[in-house]
Amino acid sequence: MIRLSFLGAMNTVGCSAVLVETGTEKILLDHGTKIQETPPKFPLPIEGKPDAILLSHCHLDHSGSIPIFFTQGNSCPVYLISVTRPLVELLLLDSIKISREEGIELPFKKEDLKNTIANFSSVNYRVPFKIGKTEVTCYDAGHLPGSMMPLLNFGNKKLLYTGDLKTTETRLLKKADLDLPNVNVVITESTYSDREHPDRKDQEKELVRIVNDTLAVDGICLIAGFAVGRIDELLLILDHYGIDYPLYIDGMAKKAITIINQHKNLLRNPDSLDKALEKVQYVRKEKMRSKIIRNPGVILTTSGMLSGGPIVYYLKKLYDDRNCSLVLSGFQVEGTPGKTLLETGRYITNDLNLDLKMFVRKLDFSSHAGRSELFKFIRKVNPEKVFCIHGDHTQEFASELKEKGFDAVAPLANNRIFEI
Ligand SMILES: [Zn+2]
Ligand SMILES: [Zn+2]
Repeated sequence: MIRLSFLGAMNTVGCSAVLVETGTEKILLDHGTKIQETPPKFPLPIEGKPDAILLSHCHLDHSGSIPIFFTQGNSCPVYLISVTRPLVELLLLDSIKISREEGIELPFKKEDLKNTIANFSSVNYRVPFKIGKTEVTCYDAGHLPGSMMPLLNFGNKKLLYTGDLKTTETRLLKKADLDLPNVNVVITESTYSDREHPDRKDQEKELVRIVNDTLAVDGICLIAGFAVGRIDELLLILDHYGIDYPLYIDGMAKKAITIINQHKNLLRNPDSLDKALEKVQYVRKEKMRSKIIRNPGVILTTSGMLSGGPIVYYLKKLYDDRNCSLVLSGFQVEGTPGKTLLETGRYITNDLNLDLKMFVRKLDFSSHAGRSELFKFIRKVNPEKVFCIHGDHTQEFASELKEKGFDAVAPLANNRIFEI
């Protein structure tokens, strides 16, 4: 009998962590947290010492608690696809910096990251390895560079954990690898189980139209996105439609793109970033920022939900210019300045309250499977049991899967331990 203990991401996005106990091994699937929450409510404490952690990808809702785990005196290998190592380091260092600026003390320090990363061990897609008696094979999850779905083979049962999943290809990445053996149990993410994405091509064309319209009136188009996997995707979209205007990248995306481009084999087209980057200038100094906003152009920058990063500088300078535009490239979480802006037309932070005159538009370049893609994925894998986590509507998703004949359940804080 295998025991599954869900430690976070129950009925919500954030803090993914599942403990798998086989009787001989304890394997932890992800160990994420809401990094700014101190002390963090999730993940729940682990009983005993895990033998290994399988890290699905770098996002902090999957990786953020790993340094805390190691500061608590634990020691075990963390298996990941190689690019995840520098990306986790980049995101954790950034969260330490942001927390310091906001006066929040995280339960780990810069020095702790060294020890954390010393436990990281790279694995390759589709190359099985053993943790005790359990055989693990990692499949490409299509969500981010280096995102993986571990498949655990216990001998008499196989369990697939999706981490975060994208089953359609993007400009940057191949779609998830669904050429899988028979799987008995799936733990699936449910982020978009209640809604569809708009047609991706339409979103791309809309982005290009906004860029062209802005440049036609000599304006500046600001495009806000996440540093890892989004700014690079947006860059490839713009490159696909032809860049014949000044294009700049600012913020943490510069480092993320450099890291990702050192792992070209993970990209859908290994040379794509090299080719697109030929038309890009990186903004390296404050002085350059004040220079580039004097002329028409396009600026790709962080943060994706306008909560910090160089986008704040650009918004302060351009907010009341009707010829300029701002594109939000993805989902805006409740309570973020990006969400508030969409609801009120105002950019509100601790220090700012600006009435935006520039054109604002949110587009959807999500790196998650949409509703019908999630159902299609479950139908294709066709497991005997499905656990729905990492979403705001996991109960509804499980109910709908049940109606379709699957044995599905959405773990909750008061019902989170299962035997399979
Ligand atoms: Zn993710
Ligand atoms: Zn996630």
